[in-house]
Amino acid sequence: MAKHIAEVGGVVVIGLGRFGKSLALELERDGVEVLGIDTDPRRVQSLAGRITHVVEADSTDLEAMRQLSVQDFDRAVIAIGTDLEASVLSAFVLKTLGVDNIWGKATSESMARILEQVGVGHVVRPEHDMGRRVAHLVRGKMLDYIEFDDGYAIVKTVPPKAITGMPLGESGVRTKYGVTIVGIKTPGQDFTHATPETVVSAGDLVIVSGERVKVETFSAED
Ligand code: ATP
Repeated sequence: MAKHIAEVGGVVVIGLGRFGKSLALELERDGVEVLGIDTDPRRVQSLAGRITHVVEADSTDLEAMRQLSVQDFDRAVIAIGTDLEASVLSAFVLKTLGVDNIWGKATSESMARILEQVGVGHVVRPEHDMGRRVAHLVRGKMLDYIEFDDGYAIVKTVPPKAITGMPLGESGVRTKYGVTIVGIKTPGQDFTHATPETVVSAGDLVIVSGERVKVETFSAED
């Protein structure tokens, strides 16, 4: 069974708490086959029939993982947040079995550093990242906010009045604010790419990219 999953790019999800469950279901929705693993029979039961394969097992048990053919997968996510030892040992087991593309969830900065040290290539901190994101949203008119590592951000926001009612090419948005409008949404319509001819109207929403501070300033303008 696992061989087939691996061939079509399946993902092992270890730990089916809120994060792991949501991740597993989203992968399934996208057509990715998932092998979900958890020691808690209730968590396993709650996902039975909703993800391709869900098994009650201990991910720190090398032999149990080998039996499940975890080694046939090239991607795994360790979604155990509160038990650092279980998370680290699971990473060790995955590495031992040759699964190199490992994602891990960390609930603190020190846990993130430890996971990186044991070979977890992609460490995510959902609570920390979402907290930062909401801080940006709650401060201004931004409706969505994504920040990249280098201080670059993309936001969905209400445009300042000063740039409405004229083509973007004439609005001076780049020179005045130092940001680029990449998309626009008029109520009742889909998002479209912005061009120099696009006219932004009051009531529209825009997707803006640029340096974090600049997109924030742009978003805060009335
Ligand atoms: P949430 O995503 O709900 O915030 P959490 O960060 O609180 O989760 P935990 O509750 O520690 O994380 O673990 C998530 C899941 O991982 C739980 O369902 C737990 O049973 C499972 N789990 C913990 N240790 C192991 C293990 N060694 N093998 C398999 N599953 C495990």
